[in-house]
This record gives sequence, structure tokens and C-alpha cells, in this order.
Amino acid sequence: MDNTVFWRLSFFVGIFVVMAVLESYLPARHAPLTRKVRWYGNLGLVVVGALVSRLALPITLVGVALWAQEVHIGAFNLLSVPLWLSIAVGVLTLDLAIYWQHRLFHTIPLLWRLHQVHHIDGHVDTTTGLRFHPLEILLSLLIKALVVVALGCPPEAIVIFEIGLNAFAVFNHANIRLPQKWDDILSKVLITQRVHRIHHSQQLNESNSNFGFSVSWWDKLFGSYKARGEKQDEQLEIGQANYPPSRENAGLWSLLAMPFHQPDPSKRSTSTANQDKH
Ligand SMILES: [Zn+2]
Repeated sequence: MDNTVFWRLSFFVGIFVVMAVLESYLPARHAPLTRKVRWYGNLGLVVVGALVSRLALPITLVGVALWAQEVHIGAFNLLSVPLWLSIAVGVLTLDLAIYWQHRLFHTIPLLWRLHQVHHIDGHVDTTTGLRFHPLEILLSLLIKALVVVALGCPPEAIVIFEIGLNAFAVFNHANIRLPQKWDDILSKVLITQRVHRIHHSQQLNESNSNFGFSVSWWDKLFGSYKARGEKQDEQLEIGQANYPPSRENAGLWSLLAMPFHQPDPSKRSTSTANQDKH
């Protein structure tokens, strides 16, 4: 195992354990299904996603960056820019790309079918932050690879970005609630748990907000930031009405097959019928 994989994994496991313990003892919201039922599907997707991306793309993003350096393509590989600057711009550009990728997955119906797997979870906790359909993970990898090549990102930027992306996804999906005062201060810069839960609302105007995974400034800059939901955090309706929380909907095979079939239209609510069009 190379050093970067070790550090990425250690950091990820560390923050996952801290958040999972915190949400066990200080949960912000009550889960409609047991942990065992939801975690089987959510963590199963992580394993399938890792296997699919490894098989489909045997080269990692760091490998792509090293290749671009070797063949001298990408802006930073052609210009003489200080390393610190190329790392900073690389990390920021990758984060911005993920913000827009997330918006695109909410806008294009075919992509929404994939991303809906993330939103159908009727509860939000640490494992929701990892629950993505393998095809969404693959597409996201390709988008990131394009940014890495176009920019000539240094490998250091990718390691920092990937560690941050994983850590923030686990952090802001955790089922905890910070004291409101802290939340207000922290959300000036970061996407907090309460702010991200608004993105998981069943209401279309709320799920079309707070797309950022880490910092809150992209949402503020591009007009998608929502500091407060219509309902209090405790009463917020999370998930998708056309997929009510059930053991069946939470199963690994259901999650993998979900993008390929439409739910019974008679079970859709107004808000989710609109959601399908966006
Ligand atoms: Zn989303």
C-alpha cells in the first residue's frame, strides 16, 4: 500500500468512527429504519463502487496527474507556476467542478436517476455521505480526470482534495446537530450537517440548494445557498416520497437497480413528480 492510500484511508476511518460514535450518542433525528438495514445497503454500495471503478479505470487520479506531467499536457505542466499555487488552484478547481457536477446531476433527468439513489435514503447519517451509485462514482471520476488533465494538477492537489472530499462528505452527512451559534459561525465557511440536510429535503426548492460538499462559498457565489429550511431541522421531511423508507428500498440490489426502473407513478407526491423533471 503506498503512503497516500494509507493516509487517505486512516483519515477517512478516523473521521467515520468519530462521526458514527457522535451520532450514536447525540443523534439529531430519529431514523425510520434500523442502522443494520440501512448500513447494509449504504456500505454495500461503497464496496461495489470501489470494485467497479477499480475495474473500469485501473489508473487512479494521481496516476492520471503523473501521466499528464510526463507527456507535458495541462496548464500547470506548460507554465512555470510555483508548486504551492498550483496545489491551491488545483484543490479549489476540483472542488468547484464537484459543485457544478452535483448541480448537473440534479438538473439532467438521466443523471438524476443515478443521483436519486443518494437522495432516496429516508435518513441522513455518515453512511449516506458514501452512498452513491457506482455509475455516478465512475462519471465523477471521469469529470475529475478531465479537470486534472486540463489543469495539469499536481498529484499533491489530488491527495489533499480527495482526503477533504471524503472527510467533508462524512462530516456533513452525520446525524448530529451543532449548537445553533456554532452552526451559524461555521456555516459562514463550511457546509454544516443542518445546512446539508436542507439539500436532502423532499421539497424541490430545498433539494435544489446547498450543493456544496465542503465549503459554503460556491453556493453563496452561485445563488444556491439556503441558510434555513421552511421547517425546523427536526421536522424536515427527508428522502423522496416516491421511495418511502422500507427494508426493500434500502437493500443493496434495489439501490443498484433503482436508476433502471421508474417507481409506481401513483405513489409519487407532487414534489417528487416535479423532482423527476429536474
Ligand atoms: Zn444532491
